[in-house]
Amino acid sequence: MSDCLFCKIINGEIPSNKLYEDDKILAFYDISPIAPVHFLVIPKEHIQSVDAVNAQNSEVVAYIFAKIAKKAGIENGYRVVSNCGHDAGQTVPHLHFHVLGGKEMNWEV
Ligand code: AMP
Ligand code: ZN
Repeated sequence: MSDCLFCKIINGEIPSNKLYEDDKILAFYDISPIAPVHFLVIPKEHIQSVDAVNAQNSEVVAYIFAKIAKKAGIENGYRVVSNCGHDAGQTVPHLHFHVLGGKEMNWEV
């Protein structure tokens, strides 16, 4: 998608602080971290949100989780969040998983 921020990060038009990359996914540090460790994991295929995951494109989601478990390397656990749509505060319409860690987190909505 030509006007998608994360597609631009994937194709190098916009720089990012990369943590991991392969042919299917990219992980990079969030520009406005809300935890001591805060990175995003995205599929290279443009999928709008969790809501747009279906039987045809869901393989990459399992792949992301398999990689998160190995790449996170965060002591004492971590949280994975995916905001979907307006009420959840999704600001970038390209599926992304926030990985948060490095501190004890509470649970507020
Ligand atoms: P969300 O609000 O769930 O859609 O998450 C989008 C996230 O992308 C926010 O946490 C932003 O801080 C982050 N973000 C926006 N632009 C960039 C960028 N250029 N590099 C890294 N992270 C970004
Ligand atoms: Zn995109």
